[in-house]
Amino acid sequence: MLTLNALRFQIRVKWEPLASNVRMWEMSERLNLTGCSVNELIEFVGSFGEQAYRGRQIFAAIQHRRLKNFGEMTDVPKALRERLNALATVSTLTVESRYVSEDGTRRFLMKTQDNLPVETVFIPEEHRDTICFSSQSGCPLQCTFCLTAQLGLLRSLSAGEIVEQIIIALNDVYGVGVQPPRGTNLVGMGAGEPFLNFEELMKALRVMADPQGLFIVPNRVTVSTAGVVPRILELAEIPDRPHLAISLGAPTDKQRNELMPINKKWPLDELLAACKEFEKTLKAGEKFTFEYVLLDGVNDSDEHARQLANLLNRHDMHAKVNLIPHNPADPLPYRPSPAERVTQFQSILESKGVRSFVRRPRGRDIFAACGQLAARRETNPIPSNIDPVMAQVS
Ligand code: SF4
Repeated sequence: MLTLNALRFQIRVKWEPLASNVRMWEMSERLNLTGCSVNELIEFVGSFGEQAYRGRQIFAAIQHRRLKNFGEMTDVPKALRERLNALATVSTLTVESRYVSEDGTRRFLMKTQDNLPVETVFIPEEHRDTICFSSQSGCPLQCTFCLTAQLGLLRSLSAGEIVEQIIIALNDVYGVGVQPPRGTNLVGMGAGEPFLNFEELMKALRVMADPQGLFIVPNRVTVSTAGVVPRILELAEIPDRPHLAISLGAPTDKQRNELMPINKKWPLDELLAACKEFEKTLKAGEKFTFEYVLLDGVNDSDEHARQLANLLNRHDMHAKVNLIPHNPADPLPYRPSPAERVTQFQSILESKGVRSFVRRPRGRDIFAACGQLAARRETNPIPSNIDPVMAQVS
């Protein structure tokens, strides 16, 4: 997508009120307004003489009313809507398939305008909803327990494409513009390494935090990284930031090099040192966790549990460990650890003073669980134009 500065240049160069030029413009890239802050929208409409309140109106239409085309913004004059339509867009993702799990989880398989896969998962819970979004199409990291890794990096998503995933999921579940009855939490744990798309990620989070829009504040967002150390240190300097989760996957460099090759660049001691620096900056109520995927017979022995506890204790880390039984995903050669093993692993951590929690898998039957996202189309696809209420009962 275009940046605002690039758009300004293109408007000057390309925008002429001639039918042939309009068509040419429409065939080229258009600015995705879904990724714009209210100030950027004010500046954007101001560039063709509109007053600031029009920018605020358009921001609310996109982010609060969750409208997906300019034609529905009937409080905006028709001439302005037509101009917006010629210059910009609020819809760049199309839902190709939608899957509804028996536990209510919904998985959306979307495509970008350049035909790349994006996956988003909606997880309903008793007191809140959680939306797991993707930060990249595919992923450049090669974690061996993750299906997304097999796609490689296709490209990083723009802020607009990140925000649009949330709008699409909420509209699908509740209807366009209907305010969710429960709070919405976000987790950046879908496809991609969020910290390799840091600027667009942080921009998307700022846009979504606006009280005049989606109003999902950073305190409701958790971002997970496989361990991009410079970004962990950078995040430590940002006061208004999301919660952080670090995916560990293995308790020793030898094993982590194999399971998560990013470890060759930032080994465990370096990663944990950065985590300690980050931990020093934690505010009251802020969550900081480690994630540990349990792979049957691979990293789930008593010895692995002791090594993990010793590693965290050696670095004086107080963060809790989320234990995630692996989610089966053919053709990956791993199985989930049996329940007794998970319990034993957890009790060893606890006996060494490391707090832990076993995360319940959601949406396994529709390949929506952690590590399973890779554009798979099995099970029960629901046509993307189905009535949302009907989808809930299917
Ligand atoms: S686990 Fe996360 S970081 Fe690792 S390959 Fe999968 S999507 Fe990328």
